[in-house]
Amino acid sequence: MTEHYRSTLDYIGNTPLIRLNQASAATGCEILGKAEFMNPGGSIKDRAALGIVRDAENSGQLRPGGIIVEGTAGNTGIGLAVIGNALGYETVIVMPDNQSKDKIDTLKSYGVTLHLVPAVPLKDPNHFTKVSERIAGELNETHEHGAIWANQFNNLANREFHEQTTGAEIWEQTHGEIHGFICSVGTGGTLAGVAHALKARSDNVRIGLADPTGSALYNYYAHGELKAEGSSISEGIGNSRITDNLADTPIDMPYQLPDSESIPLVYELIKKEGLSVGSSSGVNVAGAIRMARDLGPGHVIVTLLCDSAMRYRARLFNRAFLAEQGLQLPDWLNLD
Ligand code: PMP
Repeated sequence: MTEHYRSTLDYIGNTPLIRLNQASAATGCEILGKAEFMNPGGSIKDRAALGIVRDAENSGQLRPGGIIVEGTAGNTGIGLAVIGNALGYETVIVMPDNQSKDKIDTLKSYGVTLHLVPAVPLKDPNHFTKVSERIAGELNETHEHGAIWANQFNNLANREFHEQTTGAEIWEQTHGEIHGFICSVGTGGTLAGVAHALKARSDNVRIGLADPTGSALYNYYAHGELKAEGSSISEGIGNSRITDNLADTPIDMPYQLPDSESIPLVYELIKKEGLSVGSSSGVNVAGAIRMARDLGPGHVIVTLLCDSAMRYRARLFNRAFLAEQGLQLPDWLNLD
């Protein structure tokens, strides 16, 4: 009867849609968070990783015994490691050295080959994405079963998988009664895929961008200029360019969220909803609340809870680190 049982990769996606009671009560809307932290690798990026791997298998580029190489802020690497381990591929991950120790330790615990490189601007030839592209090219030449570069920023298999899964699930889970969707952007695969899926089903769904300070995207969608202001402790989100995945995304309502607005929401989600989620989820919920205020009461707005707070233990629960950023722990959180 083994056909009744499913294995790891079958549990990527089909995540629950959770009503956020505080945000809903504060706005008079239904604000719903899709629980992406419940994916096997613990984040939204399991979906992009699975979409990219399946696409590379189908095109014949990824062969049995081959290697998957990627540059990542962490979660995509963890997703690729989950999938690589489950399917018998090795994974080689290149990551900037300014990301949380918790993500680095998690990657190591999956047994990936990890290269930590200095965090440098995108135009630098040693940017983590370019290093990963070079390593993939070299391994593809030398390894007997070849290697692929996942290329999550510009590989459209990323957004296509979100269109087919995340977007379609949100439509079904809300029974088509949805007025707004909003999330932050790293590669843009999630926002683009969900936006296309929802707009194809209804012209009335508004699409929002929740962009942290320090990212250039808000100014692009609000004022037509790629320009970054300020900074943020959030990880995995924000961008200085329009990726191939993000291009042509119909964004109706762009918002810029400072940490002073998003990080307190992370603690509120923990304390009032029992949801321990990471900083990008705080940005997403902050964006959903702004969108709800602009649309007015009575609307259904969906956003994403991308990963767990435990992925940022050394930052989100570190009084001294937070103080350096002008942020603070809430009074109820007693870590001493
Ligand atoms: N939240 C977290 C925690 C992430 O790691 C990422 C991706 N790096 C995102 C949000 C953004 O997702 P996408 O790449 O699909 O834009």
